[in-house]
Amino acid sequence: MKISIILPVYNEEESILILIDELINLKEIKNDLKEIIFIDDGSTDNTKKILDECAEKNNLIKVISLVKNFGQTAAISAGIDYSTGEILVTMDADLQNDPKDIPQLLKKLEGGFDVVCGWRKERKDKYFSRILPSKIANWIISKISKVPLHDYGCTLKIFKRHILDGIKLYGEMHRFIPIYIAWNGGKITESPVKHRFR
Ligand code: UDP
Ligand code: MG
Repeated sequence: MKISIILPVYNEEESILILIDELINLKEIKNDLKEIIFIDDGSTDNTKKILDECAEKNNLIKVISLVKNFGQTAAISAGIDYSTGEILVTMDADLQNDPKDIPQLLKKLEGGFDVVCGWRKERKDKYFSRILPSKIANWIISKISKVPLHDYGCTLKIFKRHILDGIKLYGEMHRFIPIYIAWNGGKITESPVKHRFR
């Protein structure tokens, strides 16, 4: 099954070249990789210029440019609509997610799941402003939704495309796609992933 990687990008000129290098050198997925889609979410630095240059040189790379900054959910939504692979990988473009985790998540998906969610077990962010509030939020969300995940906010997730058909995303909703899918009978699971400092 062919894979589309979907990356929302807002002012990430420093990380893009490194990230592309990491993605295209992932030998485990080389044969199945159909496209790497960057959604430039109205960046004001050199992000768009760098991405366009990369897309010229490598036809796996595709760039969608949003006319202004719409936020991560809208960017991911545009990427999903544009993508053509049967397996969709969403991830951050700031190098906090590690492409090396993609193969193990894919293995889990092939084991019979519709969604595999990354779980940043050792999160590399500030404790009081990011990690603690997110722990509390994750706990509440899992109690309310009754969909037991540890980390709704990790962008690194892998989906079977058909499971996303008909889903419309708005607000900050991209984090909750797995809940919606589980409520509709989809099989979801999670897997620990590496998290790097920004
Ligand atoms: N991002 C985006 N639009 C925005 C803000 C962020 O597309 O308005 C992208 C950003 O470039 C990164 C991902 O979304 O690839 C996650 O953003 P960020 O690192 O700021 O979030 P955090 O890691 O703090 O959750
Ligand atoms: Mg980040």
